[in-house]
Amino acid sequence: VAVPPRSVPEAADDWARTVFGAPRHLSTLVDRVDVRDEEIERLYTEVIRRDIREERQFTTARRTTSPRVDPSTVDPFTISVEALRTASEYVATCLGCGGSGTAACGGCRGAGRVDCPTCRGRGEILRQYKKSSRWIKCTECRGKQTQQCDGCRGKGTVNCQGCEGGGCQSAWLTYGQTATPYVAVLPRSPILSAHRQLAEPRPLRKEEVAMFALAMTAEAAGPLVEVPATTRTFARSNQPRLDPRLERISHQQYFKLAVLRRDATYTMCGAQGQLVFSGHKMTVAPTPLAVAPIQRRLWLWGGASVGIAGGLGMLMGSFLGKAAYFEGPNRMLALLWLGASLFGALSVGALLREAGPRFRWARLAPLERAFGAVGLAGAALIAIVGLATRPRLGQVQTALASGDANRARLVVEALEETQGQSKDVLEAKDEALMAAVPSATGDERLHLLDQVASHGGERAKGATDSARKERLDRVRQLLDAKKPAEALAKFEQWFSAWKDEPELREMRGLIHDAVYATCQDDPCKLQAAQQAVQANPSTARASRLDDAQRRLVDVLSFSEVLGESTVSRLQRLKAMASVAAKVTSIAGEDAKLADKAKGATERSSAERAKVPVLGNEEGVAAELLGPLTAKASGIASVILDGTEAYLALDGQRRCRGLYAVGPKGNRALRSTLWSGDRLLSQTVGHPTTVKKASTSTGVVRWQEGAIPVVARWKDGELMELRVGAATP
Ligand SMILES: [Zn+2]
Ligand SMILES: [Zn+2]
Ligand SMILES: [Zn+2]
Repeated sequence: VAVPPRSVPEAADDWARTVFGAPRHLSTLVDRVDVRDEEIERLYTEVIRRDIREERQFTTARRTTSPRVDPSTVDPFTISVEALRTASEYVATCLGCGGSGTAACGGCRGAGRVDCPTCRGRGEILRQYKKSSRWIKCTECRGKQTQQCDGCRGKGTVNCQGCEGGGCQSAWLTYGQTATPYVAVLPRSPILSAHRQLAEPRPLRKEEVAMFALAMTAEAAGPLVEVPATTRTFARSNQPRLDPRLERISHQQYFKLAVLRRDATYTMCGAQGQLVFSGHKMTVAPTPLAVAPIQRRLWLWGGASVGIAGGLGMLMGSFLGKAAYFEGPNRMLALLWLGASLFGALSVGALLREAGPRFRWARLAPLERAFGAVGLAGAALIAIVGLATRPRLGQVQTALASGDANRARLVVEALEETQGQSKDVLEAKDEALMAAVPSATGDERLHLLDQVASHGGERAKGATDSARKERLDRVRQLLDAKKPAEALAKFEQWFSAWKDEPELREMRGLIHDAVYATCQDDPCKLQAAQQAVQANPSTARASRLDDAQRRLVDVLSFSEVLGESTVSRLQRLKAMASVAAKVTSIAGEDAKLADKAKGATERSSAERAKVPVLGNEEGVAAELLGPLTAKASGIASVILDGTEAYLALDGQRRCRGLYAVGPKGNRALRSTLWSGDRLLSQTVGHPTTVKKASTSTGVVRWQEGAIPVVARWKDGELMELRVGAATP
């Protein structure tokens, strides 16, 4: 039994370092080592083979002779190539032509003619001119399409190449040589996969088997002969079968190797592996059995690591939060998760290594135990940190007590996320919001108060009151700044749900008092005074309303002024009508005032209708009809709701005539606002109608007092109206 140069454990650990995923101290897992030294015999054989074949060549001989040697009787190992040729040469019939000496011509395939190369067998060629082209007869073959084959000069046959036309060949026997290597290694052992050169079909050098002890060696340039009987027997039974005539052994090499072999069995991850060490260097055979437990552990390790990371991730996820409060805890939890997963994975590797029917705690290294402990501690810390950083109601009070309103709101936000809007959470939220009120300004302040009020908690009443006071103050500030319109708008927005409270009534009254002060006209004042009284009546407001009403009654009563110009009188009538219209829209229940306004409106239009356009100056016409446009000297025009009216003016710019026609198109006077009747009545200054023609189409002429009128009708519609001295 040979003694290995290093121990099995050393060799095992050295090998483990070269295998991915193998444990560092594989040797500690080895259960058993068996001494399995072997004797391996290896025979290398090279076989050469000589095959007999016939060769042929052209000859000048013209008479055949019969073959002289039967190739199946030739022993190629007893005769040289030259001697065999000399002994076997004879004259044979040519194989290529069977003795005829001719062969079909390759150029024309025996036809004697080939396609004309110029026209490619068409007989025509395309001739190109400057601007055109046309087909003409081929100049080479003159339209015959073919020409004589050059290869055979038209005969269709050529001399046979094999015999150059003679019909005979010289034939003789010869042989070639091939060499084939064979190798036989016995017994078939796992060590062969560790020493692959043994199975390669080639002779080996001594140094290629230096890892083994050589028990016996023999080599010969032919079959091994001078060897012990046992070796000869091994060689006989393990060399290839030979063809006794054509094959010979040209080289044989024999090794008997004393192989040092140790088989180690190790257990890992509940599976058994076997390592076969062999040779002086204790090389491990890379068999599937050697690496199976290592691969099994790698798979399980990867799966377990993913499982640990996933499980811890779920634990961590139950504590994570979206609110800003969780920013710090989230980061800490993520770090703990990373650490616990990492150390957990490391310790699982060690546990898997020792896993099996009999788990071996004692074999875990101190560092591996530490990894496991750290991993477990990390997992526990995730739970501890997660629970410890949960937001609590008490934190709100603590933050508020130390004056940190922002912190309080952060905690409340987190509480809303974790506990929902429960009563306690909302109370804490109200407390935090109220704490923020003193430092807030403007709309932000109101927003805070409104939020608290909307929760309906203990502080809702106080918040509601504060918000109301705040808003009333703002309205008051706007009034002080002489902005009653804005004050009214804000008041309506904030207090639209009218509460019949004295304070609000008075505020509304004050706003309308302020509006009254800024009013430019009497209807505005009337409205403001009315609304102020409506909001909160007082003696002062009542007398102000009285004043406004009285003033309006005055304005709505028309009185003649002696010597007043017609234009000025018409303008006063129009102004009265416009005040009356405003009053009508705001008079409401004030029946007396409404009647007055109605009367004023009627009076205004009646008085205006009495003033004729004819005979008055153009200012009066403009006041009655609207702004005039000068058309030519003595002609002015005005558009009355589509109807075109032309006024004829005399030297004193007085209107002497009026001509009216409908809008462009069919020119009918269809306006209802300025009907033909109204236009005529206004022109002459008293109510009248346009006379109809006796037929639906025709012209009517008559006199309104002393004024001539012409009306033209067509299909029952008024087309033209001419009053007084109208010329166009
Ligand atoms: Zn031939
Ligand atoms: Zn041709
Ligand atoms: Zn030919």
